[in-house]
Amino acid sequence: MTEERIENVIIIGGGPAGYTAALYAARADLEPLNIEGFLWGGLLQQTTDVENYPGFPDGIMGPEMMQHFRDQAERFGTKFVSEDATRVELSRDGSEPHRVWVGDDEYKARAVVLAMGANHRKLGIPGEEELASRGVSYCATCDAAFFRDKKIAVVGGGDSAFEEAIFLSKFGSKVELIHRRPEFRASQIMQQRAREIENIDFVTPYAPVEFHADQNGNPMGSLEKIELKNTEDDSTRELAVDGTFIAIGHIPNSQLVEGQVQTDENGYVVTEGKSTRTGVPGVFAAGDLVDHTYRQAVTAAGSGCQAALDAEWYLRDTPPEASWLKPDEIERDAERTASGERPLPPARMPL
Ligand code: NAP
Repeated sequence: MTEERIENVIIIGGGPAGYTAALYAARADLEPLNIEGFLWGGLLQQTTDVENYPGFPDGIMGPEMMQHFRDQAERFGTKFVSEDATRVELSRDGSEPHRVWVGDDEYKARAVVLAMGANHRKLGIPGEEELASRGVSYCATCDAAFFRDKKIAVVGGGDSAFEEAIFLSKFGSKVELIHRRPEFRASQIMQQRAREIENIDFVTPYAPVEFHADQNGNPMGSLEKIELKNTEDDSTRELAVDGTFIAIGHIPNSQLVEGQVQTDENGYVVTEGKSTRTGVPGVFAAGDLVDHTYRQAVTAAGSGCQAALDAEWYLRDTPPEASWLKPDEIERDAERTASGERPLPPARMPL
């Protein structure tokens, strides 16, 4: 009879948070299983130069950096499943192992680290995808330096858009903030700061309808102009720009665990205090799935490290037996302990 395998820790997600959690868990001899996803590498897989990750003074390409992250986690014994997790069933009280499915394959674990990240909300208009990294960007912190003394647009009307516009105003010759309504949802203080900056202009009420590339003999042309539609009278106009930063929010990839861990009104997983604990015993969350404020590779990696340490301490303090015993087994063990006998090992289901 074969006993089914119960992993110490399953890490879901293959971005900076997931791989860092895998690295730390592997170095703690936990032999983690990382369900990294088919498109492993996270948002950095779609980025070109990364110039703000410490330790790479000359910068590094996003995909290359993620390969390094993955290699380092693998070197210490992380096992990978390069498919998407399709279903998760978390044990609410630790009386059963947590269960994660990849299609028909089921995996069980005493602890789970959720690191599925978030995606930029997209406008979903022609040219957006084609010109990503060639003028269209979702991260001013990452890409502002490529638009020094250039004409820049920012799309959005929330705090992120204002923050991006203020930051970009130090780089670009001009920043045009495009918003679909005349009013902004950004905080008053952000609006006031932006209004005080000379090279920030406001283009409202306009919504981008298409991004156009400079095609002059260059099949890989970069962004040249945006076609805009007035949302009140439907008239259109064009805006010549070298770069556009889209800041219309993020969508955390928390659907897999919806209703099983606490999330906020925007779908971000809520953790306890400064820890990565989700409130479900043995379940931890890290990276952009949790953080809608900093959203940097280095902060995601840091929180992945925290999640692995939290998981390690949980496993240390929660005997394996106790983490998935059935209620009658808990009672049985309590009686045995009271009478000075050793608890029995938990029942394992045969495969
Ligand atoms: P947000 O507050 O949800 O704002 C998103 C903006 O994008 C809104 O103005 C929205 O327009 C616009 N938008 C959404 N979908 C659009 C579409 N398809 N086409 C055109 N425009 C679209 O998101 P956020 O700015 O990323 O902020 C998220 C949270 O982080 C907020 O709580 C914010 O306060 C916080 N944050 C704080 C700071 C800070 O304090 N320094 C910085 C960044 C973020 P409508 O207004 O018309 O809906």
